[in-house]
Amino acid sequence: MADISALCVYCGSSVGHDRAHRDAAKALGTAMAERGIRLVYGGGRIGLMGVIADAVLAGGGQVTGVIPYHLQRREAGHEEITELRVVSSMHERKRIMSEIADGFVVLPGGLGTLDETLEIVTWRQLALHDKPIVIADIGGYWRPLLDLIDAVIGGGFARPGCRDLFSVVDSVDGVFRALERAPAPRIPVVAERL
Ligand code: AMP
Repeated sequence: MADISALCVYCGSSVGHDRAHRDAAKALGTAMAERGIRLVYGGGRIGLMGVIADAVLAGGGQVTGVIPYHLQRREAGHEEITELRVVSSMHERKRIMSEIADGFVVLPGGLGTLDETLEIVTWRQLALHDKPIVIADIGGYWRPLLDLIDAVIGGGFARPGCRDLFSVVDSVDGVFRALERAPAPRIPVVAERL
């Protein structure tokens, strides 16, 4: 089983239209604080990012945000979190988030979340890391993405085994069950190749 003391959560810088998505972000943050799992995220106070950070803090948990200088104003860098790391670029942000977390959870989000999700999955495909990735398909939000990945496999552009690079769950409880089932990573992050 993977030893999870810090979890990177990718999620929207908007809250979206479905109240269930906000509730899931809050519930995940509360559950992480209860379990003593640090949140690693993009460092903003807006959208689901802000909702989950506030929930971890409200539960007495630890939060590390990683934000590029140029987004500090746009995404409203969260001032109350345990640690805010201000970095120079999006690439540095994503590399640091991947290095300091023991696993990844994807909540509903927009294009940035999509980018981060596909990147962390493809980095695993390339054996640049071997940490668990859990897609929280709350209310079927990620179904179109999962269908697209199936279509890519069906088209012969990815191996069927690519579906094993990540788990899909439909609830916050499911996230923790998937992490408990995940084997411990066999390789360290190959940071210089990211
Ligand atoms: P979004 O899902 O678009 O609301 O964005 C969620 C997070 O992803 C925000 O912190 C964005 O700054 C970040 N983001 C947006 N675009 C990108 C990108 N091209 N690469 C990496 N992160 C991004």
